[in-house]
Amino acid sequence: MRKPIIAGNWKMHKTVAEAVAFIDAVKTEIVSSDVEALVCAPFTLLPSLVEATKGTAIKVGAQNMHFEDKGAFTGEVSADMLLDIGVTHVIIGHSERRQYFAETDETVNKKTIKALQKGLTPIVCCGETLEQREAGETKALVKVQIEKAFAGISAADAPKVVIAYEPIWAIGTGKTASSQDANDVIAYIRQVLEGIYGDETSEEVRIQYGGSVKPSNVEEIMNESDIDGALVGGASLEPSDFIQLVNF
Ligand code: PGA
Repeated sequence: MRKPIIAGNWKMHKTVAEAVAFIDAVKTEIVSSDVEALVCAPFTLLPSLVEATKGTAIKVGAQNMHFEDKGAFTGEVSADMLLDIGVTHVIIGHSERRQYFAETDETVNKKTIKALQKGLTPIVCCGETLEQREAGETKALVKVQIEKAFAGISAADAPKVVIAYEPIWAIGTGKTASSQDANDVIAYIRQVLEGIYGDETSEEVRIQYGGSVKPSNVEEIMNESDIDGALVGGASLEPSDFIQLVNF
């Protein structure tokens, strides 16, 4: 059984005081051990979030990391630095990082390998632009993204990766892929994994949908056969919305 995973992606939002107030507001309402709940926050908030979530059912993730252990990489943060403060998850290859910060399938692969080596749970993002969808290229593109992201990753490690399928045209736009469309692509991603690792392993990998998920559509999305969770931007910023998302 794949445990559902609902992750907030706060992007570049919130001060320390706001982040701690958020956890105070949600922690007594997020108690189920049937769903994995986490917030992925800017680096500056992570130590305070780890502290504020101690003894709660909420985990803390970063939104990026570097693939090297240390060195002259101004502005970057390593996996060890995240582990050092108690972070457990890291988003890798979000479309905004691919679009604005030169993230490529190759760096996504290196970061995913490093996160796994260190014991962080990588949430690896993939997804197509509107032009690619309209050109009928969604599955071919996603296949390449997944095959490259998983290059060199063993069948033993593959189930430790969480995939987030996020059609770029649905991110922050209010447009959601229909739950069937999202499920169709996610089932296809599972097929791609099956091609690499075989049936048993592919059935273990959790695949989230992301793109304008909100309290009003989360249940329908989560009812789909292959969708194991959601990566949520805008609607994860408000405590009341986040509570509803996790308790779908
Ligand atoms: P959104 O963002 O929920 O605001 O569409 C999702 C994401 O970028 O992860």
